[in-house]
Order: sequence, then C-alpha cells, then structure tokens
Amino acid sequence: MAKLLEGKPIAERIKEEIREQALSLRVKPVLASVMMGDDPGAVSYSKSQARVAQELGIEYQPHNLKANTTETHLLDFIKKLNTNKSVHGIIIQNPVPAQVDYKKLSSFIDPGKDIEGIHPGNIGKLIFGGSRLIPCTAYAVMELILASGVDLYGKEAVIVGHSEIVGKPLALLLLERFATVTVCHIGTSKAGKLEGHVKRAEILIVAVGCPGLIKGAWVKEGSVVIDVGINRVGDNIVGDVEFTAAEKRAAYITPVPGGVGPLTVVMLMRNLIEAIKSQQSGEYV
Ligand code: NAD
Repeated sequence: MAKLLEGKPIAERIKEEIREQALSLRVKPVLASVMMGDDPGAVSYSKSQARVAQELGIEYQPHNLKANTTETHLLDFIKKLNTNKSVHGIIIQNPVPAQVDYKKLSSFIDPGKDIEGIHPGNIGKLIFGGSRLIPCTAYAVMELILASGVDLYGKEAVIVGHSEIVGKPLALLLLERFATVTVCHIGTSKAGKLEGHVKRAEILIVAVGCPGLIKGAWVKEGSVVIDVGINRVGDNIVGDVEFTAAEKRAAYITPVPGGVGPLTVVMLMRNLIEAIKSQQSGEYV
C-alpha cells in the first residue's frame, strides 16, 4: 500500500521557512492581486491567497476590476503596479474575461514581480535551469516528488497534460534533475498510446481534469504518483487517477484533495520572497 504524500505538512514547513526569510527582508512583503469580474474559482483561489498571506505577515492588496474592463485599461493598471515600488509581487486571477488576451497580459507584468512565473522571460529561464520564479503548481509538484525521497536521476518520468502552468514547466524541472521525461496529452490518448506510456512511469504526474482517466491497473508497482487534477463528482472532489486501485500499486501517491492543492498558494508566497530578495539586491530575477 502506497505512502500518502500529503501537501499540508510540507506547506507548514515551507511557511516556517518563509516566515524566517521574511524577517531579514526589512520590508513587509506586499502582494497585489488583480481580478476581473467574480468567477467563483478565481474568488475562491484569491480568498485562500489572502488567508495564507495573512498567516505569513504578507500584505495582500486585492484590486477588483469590473468584468467589462478593457484590455487597454487593464494594461495601464498593471503598468502602475509595475512601477509602484511599494508593490513587490503581482498576480492576475484566472480566468480573465474574453476581451483580454492572457498571453499578452503575462508578458506585460514586470518579470521581477511575476510571482506566478508566467512571464515569457521567467519561463525562458527554466530552460537554462536555476530559475527563481517558477510556475507555482509545477513547483508544488516538484516539492511533493522531492518529499518522497526518490532520486530522480535516470528515472522514467511521465507527465500527462501539457499546459503552460503544469506539464510544460514541470518537464523542464524534471529534466534539470536528469529524469527521462515523456509528456503525454490529448494527442497521445487519441493515438491510443496513453496506457503504454503510463505503464512504464516510475514517476507519474497527471494534470488533465478528467476523473478516472488513469486506470489503477496502469500504475507501475513501486512508482510515485502525483495527481494534480481537481474534479467535482457529485459532492466529492476527485483527481484524474483511480485512487483506490492505484494506491495498492504505487509506493507514494498524493491524495485529492490534500496533495498538490495545499502547496500551490504557499509556493506563490515563496516566489514573492524570492522576488523581493532579487529586487533588494538589484539582481535581475
Ligand atoms: P489544461 O486544462 O490547460 O490542459 C489539459 C491538458 O490535458 C492538456 O495538455 C490536454 O491535451 C490534456 N488532455 C485532455 N484530455 C486528455 C486525455 N483524454 N488524455 C490525455 N491528455 C488529455 O490543464 P491545467 O490548467 O494544467 O489543469 C489540469 C488539471 O489540474 C485540472 O483538473 C485543474 O483543475 C488542475 N489544477 C490543479 C491545481 C492545484 O493547485 N491542485 C493547479 C492547476 C490546475
């Protein structure tokens, strides 16, 4: 039976590190959140950011703009946050309304304040390794894998899902640790090849948003399984992996909820501290 990789104890340890590091910063960290409209997912994520910020002595500045805010107005607003020296980090709550081009927006945030790690400059740095502002969910997944204690060197790592926030950055983070990385996606499934790839995964990460996509019987004996998926099924939240069957085969597995989720916001705050350190040292982040 697999050992559970729970996010909460790791999140508590990282919060402790953040508190310690924040003491040496000589400023109260300030995080500006920009939300357009009131999408329930964005509202809920923003609330958990505000709660964790408060726990860590971080000032959380919510900027709630109307859903019909024009892109020009929004870019102007971000420009002001970019140049406001009292703001250390900026987060744009997703989803943004249809009239706003999210990719354009992510390029517009000052890369030194981009605590979500979505600016093309920060994403580009992942290629070279040693990046400091890492997309939070991918960063959280890496923390969970490292918590298993399993050495990644030469391991077969299979990622299912190739989004900009999870699968793609994660592939680069795993390569940095010399895992052999395969990235699967909808094309892999449509070609009927998903099962074959999953079956040889010593490290399996799934971020799709499709309950039960990964059959328990596909999970390799003794593997590490990180389930990023969040799916509402009736009154329950479940992941993308058939947990009960997978748990019998894996050596380590994340629960859903309670695995990746509790860590994501904490990684955002860790990025904020890194951003402030770089701002203070004058170093390009
Ligand atoms: P996305 O929705 O942007 O992309 C989905 C990915 O899954 C794509 O790569 C697509 O090709 C792939 N896919 C779709 N159907 C597939 C299939 N049948 N077989 C194989 N691949 C398939 O992804 P995202 O934004 O990374 O979100 C993925 C999941 O992770 C969602 O459930 C989301 O809620 C969850 N998520 C959780 C956290 C967290 O903090 N726990 C953070 C981000 C996302």
